[in-house]
Amino acid sequence: MKSFRKELWFNTKSRREYINITSDVDECLRESGIKEGLCLVNAMHITASVYINDAESGLIQDYDDWLEQLAPHEPVSHYRHNRTGEDNGDAHLKRQVMGREVVVAITNGKFDFGPWEQIHYAEFDGRRRKRVLVKIIGE
Ligand code: ZN
Repeated sequence: MKSFRKELWFNTKSRREYINITSDVDECLRESGIKEGLCLVNAMHITASVYINDAESGLIQDYDDWLEQLAPHEPVSHYRHNRTGEDNGDAHLKRQVMGREVVVAITNGKFDFGPWEQIHYAEFDGRRRKRVLVKIIGE
């Protein structure tokens, strides 16, 4: 069995951003040379997510609005977590809703996606260097 590991780094300009990383992960798959197997992609931070859905700008704005309704950033005093001196209580909750990781099947050297599926990195507490792990195993 072959195994491949790579970290993708991000440093977003704003607190919250949604980045389509499908082509970056596809590049990892080409580098790995694996034709049949599984690809795990996970955020390595507890205030960011990796998820799969449509790369449609309206939907991405809908996610952001919905997450802000569920767990608004302000007022930061609303979150017990922020008593630690942090201001990212909302980001931990947003990450929990959007998930930590995705797993994609690899068939004939390509991601075996359903229609419109794209891999996204969702940042909820950005403006600092953070990373995503890509782990691919197979033959
Ligand atoms: Zn925190």
